[in-house]
Amino acid sequence: MKVTVFGIGYVGLVQAAVLADAGHSVCCVDIDSNKIENLKKGIIPIYEPGLTPLVESNYQAGRLLFTTDAAEGVNFGELQFIAVGTPPDEDGSADLKYVLKVAETIATHMQAPKVVIDKSTVPVGTADKVSAKMAQVLAERNVTIDFSVVSNPEFLKEGAAVNDCKRPDRIVIGTDSKEAEELMRELYAPFNRNHDKIVIMDIKSAELTKYAANCMLATKISFMNEMSNLAEKLGADIEMVRQGIGSDERIGYHFIYPGCGYGGSCFPKDVQALIRTAESIGYNSEILKAVESINYKQKEKLFEYICKHYQVWDQAQTGNIEGLLAGKTIALWGLSFKPNTDDMRDASSRRLMETLWQAGAKVQAYDPEAMEETQRIYGSRSDLSLMGTKESALNGADALVICTEWQSFRAPDFDLIKNALSESVIFDGRNMFEPERMNKKGFAYYCIGRALSV
Ligand code: NAD
Repeated sequence: MKVTVFGIGYVGLVQAAVLADAGHSVCCVDIDSNKIENLKKGIIPIYEPGLTPLVESNYQAGRLLFTTDAAEGVNFGELQFIAVGTPPDEDGSADLKYVLKVAETIATHMQAPKVVIDKSTVPVGTADKVSAKMAQVLAERNVTIDFSVVSNPEFLKEGAAVNDCKRPDRIVIGTDSKEAEELMRELYAPFNRNHDKIVIMDIKSAELTKYAANCMLATKISFMNEMSNLAEKLGADIEMVRQGIGSDERIGYHFIYPGCGYGGSCFPKDVQALIRTAESIGYNSEILKAVESINYKQKEKLFEYICKHYQVWDQAQTGNIEGLLAGKTIALWGLSFKPNTDDMRDASSRRLMETLWQAGAKVQAYDPEAMEETQRIYGSRSDLSLMGTKESALNGADALVICTEWQSFRAPDFDLIKNALSESVIFDGRNMFEPERMNKKGFAYYCIGRALSV
């Protein structure tokens, strides 16, 4: 089939490459000419395991095309994916300007019927807005061309995106058109062989399904973080509690890890957006508001431990943290919001670094993939040194902080850490190590919700 994808980011590029690999012809359109030129040269703009060879081989085979020419893209595919960003607006609701711009572009250039597929995460009612925008533009052009709008939310996980797209758990398709449903079934047939993963529903339910999924996952994390705070104060060990509840198959072991807060491009903005959607219909979503505020506080947890360790927590609580940690250098391992990605949108490391800087500390940071992204976000500043290895980030630092649970951080050389730091202290936002073992090794070890450690 001939497919066009608008928006070649984490979702659009992976989806396009996986569809092309299955044999479809895919035209990728982005307004970022730099990104498109780089892709043509084989330079992939994001880090995602397995993505580079997939893009390269399908580009070489002629099944993947890259362009900034919207008209070319519109006239290429019978199926038109919208996979542009839906960032939070000022009030937290999803900003639909990029989505509606693509709708306008498609309607401006289309010469034949199209199925327009909302792949971006969009609030309930957006398909209607996309339809209305397209109808308006077609009316202005004084032409009648059929189109239908389908909601097909994406459930990939960054860090495992290629695998998730190749082997989806489910393929949600919201449509009220039998013809569109048939085309979507044909498109996804290569990914639907083992058992039927396609769930057909009405458009609004499909739109809400995506938010419900992300908000459920965010709720699991905030719930565990709430439990971890209780465990810490009650003298219990959240890791024991985690195993105790995970063994109940109604709860399960997945996604119940306590930590220094969730980040990324989806959970924070999607929880906020659903709160705003609820408010727009006069409904106060108490659970979602709690999920958001618990996460906001959890992202301050490591700073709290650092201040407690340096005995400046009482001052910090007054709200004025200027200069509280002046003279301290913090080694920071892990900048991306989770392992196996270079994405730093809303990453816990960012709030921590910004707070440390405000408190006068310096940061020596290392991440296996997110160094360029950190440089792009923060530029050069005297209180941030980006280090080439996790070991060099330790040199001359006073303490080590871990924000992301990269595999390569799991079995470090503890003697080397001890020798490199001015004091043997680790603040671990991801519970990577056993507190007792760390204490035996002579470390002051702070982690999340384990009373043994603090
Ligand atoms: P992204 O920011 O990585 O990519 C968006 C791309 O769209 C950018 O390259 C941008 O230049 C391009 N763009 C903007 N306007 C355009 C236009 N008019 N025409 C063509 N291209 C245009 O975003 P992302 O992370 O891929 O997310 C895209 C959507 O998918 C969002 O709604 C997001 O919530 C959703 N989503 C993301 C993930 C994820 O893990 N990143 C997972 C599931 C769903």
